Parts: sequence; structure tokens; C-alpha cells
Amino acid sequence: MELRKDPITRSWVMTGDDLADLPRPETVCRFCPDSPNRTQVIAAAPNAVSWSAQSVVHPTPLYHIEGEPGRRGDGIYDRMSSVGAHEVLVENPRHDRQLWHASDEEIGQFLRLASERILDLKRDPRVKYVSLFKDHGPNAGQEFAHPTSQLTATMFVPRRVLYELRAGREYYQAKERCVFCDILAQEERQATRVIEAHGDYVALGPYAPRVPYETWIIPRNHDASFERTGLSKPGLRTNLAALLRRTLQRVRALTEGFHLVLHTSPNSLHPSKTLGYWKTIDDDYHWHIEIMPVIAAKARSYTFKEVYYSPVSSETAVKQLREARIDG
Ligand SMILES: [Zn+2]
Ligand SMILES: [Zn+2]
Ligand SMILES: [Zn+2]
Repeated sequence: MELRKDPITRSWVMTGDDLADLPRPETVCRFCPDSPNRTQVIAAAPNAVSWSAQSVVHPTPLYHIEGEPGRRGDGIYDRMSSVGAHEVLVENPRHDRQLWHASDEEIGQFLRLASERILDLKRDPRVKYVSLFKDHGPNAGQEFAHPTSQLTATMFVPRRVLYELRAGREYYQAKERCVFCDILAQEERQATRVIEAHGDYVALGPYAPRVPYETWIIPRNHDASFERTGLSKPGLRTNLAALLRRTLQRVRALTEGFHLVLHTSPNSLHPSKTLGYWKTIDDDYHWHIEIMPVIAAKARSYTFKEVYYSPVSSETAVKQLREARIDG
């Protein structure tokens, strides 16, 4: 497999003929504490008597640490090898304790571990971006039965994040304000698309959703970097844990599957010389979590990729999400 860049949209795609790599069904869970075929542990949540969250090597990684990216031209095109890192974040030692069932303390440990791993991966000067994501449900491409999220460290910034970085920087150049702070201020003022606010975090339905029940979790305090917040403020982490748990319960009251992705700042420890986004990044970017529910019956709408089509407005979605029955 290799990475190729679309010269028009500037997005990188992973491509090649590698059908042997399609995931095989699991027989024994590799992430349970007593599993005979456990994968190598990279890091565990600190100060826990027994571990609460762990980062382990992905059994069939998309990106490999060894080798050089070897970015090179191919006529007008750009290509490189899939060098990077791919880790599984085991959210909980218990096989059936998903994030929406876990305690705020457990989710907090997971968030702390995620922050530490992102920071650690960014120490590699070649790494441009670290993605944290979770796919849950058979229609969402869930890979493992055990409660897990995944981390990839890549030598490029993924397309959606690049769009956000460009938009954030342009808005800042025009208004000297953060677009995410402005969105949050207007949403809190209007209150029609706010699902819930908890401490310094707000869950809301975006004005222009890509899929029905799309939900964002945004911190009220401006910060470009999730890992900075995640490591410096345990109180904030607990509030985020509670809001994340409650929001996932709301989403799950309406549909089983979802994609969750964290959008945080790219590697500003080692800023790219060609992409100028890092110059005002601490002021113009604002980390957040995006949850994209997967509704099997509405699957047709997602195939319409050129213009997103979401047959439930955020105003209606937010009403249903607010009223969804959750455990507390
Ligand atoms: Zn397990
Ligand atoms: Zn902001
Ligand atoms: Zn985003």
C-alpha cells in the first residue's frame, strides 16, 4: 500500500492491491487482560492499581514506523510510503464496558492516556498529524469487539483537518477571532442546536450537518490542542468525560453505530515549512470532537458524497437527542 496525493483537492489517499490485509474475524479477543495473544503494550494510564486504559500496537497496522516516507514526485503527482504509527487505545480492561457505560473516572483515564500518546507521537519531527478515532457498530466499520479507539500518526494532515485549518486561519485573518469560538457563542445565544452544556464543554448539532444527528463537542475555553487541555486540567477532563458519556448515550438511543473523531492541532512542535497554518494556529484553531452517527436505513444518503444530504435537520435532531433517555 502507498499514499498518493490528488493534485486537485490535495488530499492523500491510501491505495494499492492488498486484499490479503482485509481484517479477519477475531476468534479470541487480543485486548482482554488474560488473552493468550495480547499485543505489545506501548503505554498504560498512570496511577492505576490495575490498568484502566492502555495503548497497544495495532495487530494489522495501516502505517509502519520503520522506513522513510520517501516522498517523491511521479510526473505532476506526489506519492510516499505509508510510514507512520498505528496504535489501538484500549479504553477499558473489561470487554463489555464501552465508553457510554464506563465511569467518568475511567473515561478520564482514557482521555489522559490519549493526550499522552498524541503528545508523544508528535515528538517525532516527521509526524504532521495524529488522528484519534473510534468506529462503532457493524455499519461503521468497527474492527474489534473490545472497547477500543485508534490512533494514527501520519506524515500528512488529513483532508478534513486541512480544510478546517485553512478556514480557521482565513477567518482569523479577516476578523481576528476564532471561528469555533464565534460558532459556540452564537449557538449558546440561540440555544436551538445546543444538546447539552456540562462544565466548560458544549455538545451541539452543527448548523450544516453532514449526516443526521451529527454532534460536536466543543470546549468553551479556547485551545487549539486537545492534548494540552487533556494533560493540564484534570477537572476539565472529568467534565469532558461526563459529557462524552452522556452524548454517546443520547446518540445510541437513536442508532447503534457511529464514527467519532478528535480534531486537534497538527504537530506544532515541528511545524511544516511549506504549510503556513502554524503561524497563528494557537489563536485560530480550536480542538473539538465530531460524532457522525451511522443510520443503516439512511445509508443511501452517505453515498451522495459531492454534496452532503442529511434528511434530519439539526434543530429536529437536537430535540430528539435532548429528550433521549440516558442513565445519568
Ligand atoms: Zn476483550
Ligand atoms: Zn476558539
Ligand atoms: Zn472538525
